Amino acid sequence: MQKKLNLANFPTKIEKLEKISKDSGVNIYLKRDDQTGSEISGNKIRKLEYSIYEAIENGCDTLITCGGIQSNHARATAAAGIKLGMRAILVLRSDETPELEGNYFLDKVIGADVRIISSDDYRERRAEIMKEIKAESDAEGHKAYIIPEGASNGIGSLGYYSAMEEIKEQEKELGIKFDRIVAAVGSGGTYAGLCMGNAEFFNGEKKITGFNVCDDAEFFKKRSEEIIEEAQKYLDKSIVVKAEDMDIIDGYVGIGYAQSRPEELEFIQKTAKKEGVIFDPVYTGKAMYGMMNEIEKGTFAKGENVLFIHTGGLFGIFSKRDQFKF
Ligand SMILES: *Cc1c(COP(=O)(O)O)cnc(C)c1O
Repeated sequence: MQKKLNLANFPTKIEKLEKISKDSGVNIYLKRDDQTGSEISGNKIRKLEYSIYEAIENGCDTLITCGGIQSNHARATAAAGIKLGMRAILVLRSDETPELEGNYFLDKVIGADVRIISSDDYRERRAEIMKEIKAESDAEGHKAYIIPEGASNGIGSLGYYSAMEEIKEQEKELGIKFDRIVAAVGSGGTYAGLCMGNAEFFNGEKKITGFNVCDDAEFFKKRSEEIIEEAQKYLDKSIVVKAEDMDIIDGYVGIGYAQSRPEELEFIQKTAKKEGVIFDPVYTGKAMYGMMNEIEKGTFAKGENVLFIHTGGLFGIFSKRDQFKF
């Protein structure tokens, strides 16, 4: 198996959402991957343990990555990189002068080198722009390693492949068998990794359900297949998961990536009051909102044991505070 760094607090806790489970008739457990750390919290650190290991193996001293202005991934990359004595260059998308808050604020506090680009450039040229930055940085005598958006590539996906092995151990300890694992899908690496881990550690017995927060289900099934293909070279044996065996539920993107509808924010507030757990507006809030809607529609079986992965993102809520009503 591919080696990795040890940066995060593992295993992350599994806890039951008692009230929501009782009200919905479905047993909903949370895996607290929002508690993998503080500066390096969230799902990205599972992937980065592998990506940054590879960067260091390759003799790199600089990490370059990209994301939205409130990117959890970029913040985690910068924090992890700087902790390891590396430089972090973040290419972030914003069409206006960004408010200094949430993840972007933390990026600056940590001392990341932030380069802001337009959404057009981000969509069309971000890979090229990161390569240009790498060329400049390398010319100055550094060696840079580029991590793609969300660390969602073959090596990054190993983070959630191994998370499934962790879940297997926890099932034994807790005496529970989860029928289904649920997660938000933003760039596909988490979902792809969960599918691979399911094939390897559970004979594909669990249903892996994703809720996409941008693009659509077809896009992410195809993307996940590509990521799984890319991951093969890091695995001891071949793992195949086909698009038709993937379950990604579309319909909860709302008004767009990182944009919130009032009902989504109300849902976040309602669940926070009920369970003392805060979901983020960009990923987990939308996925959880989607899941509760689907449970109401009957998509999930009564009495099912569901493990929802709280992938983090708390810092992102601060940039939305004016949209909350009290
Ligand atoms: C990035 C992110 C996701 C989505 O994970 P992907 O691997 O990009 O699909 C979910 N939740 C949070 C909080 C994230 O930051």
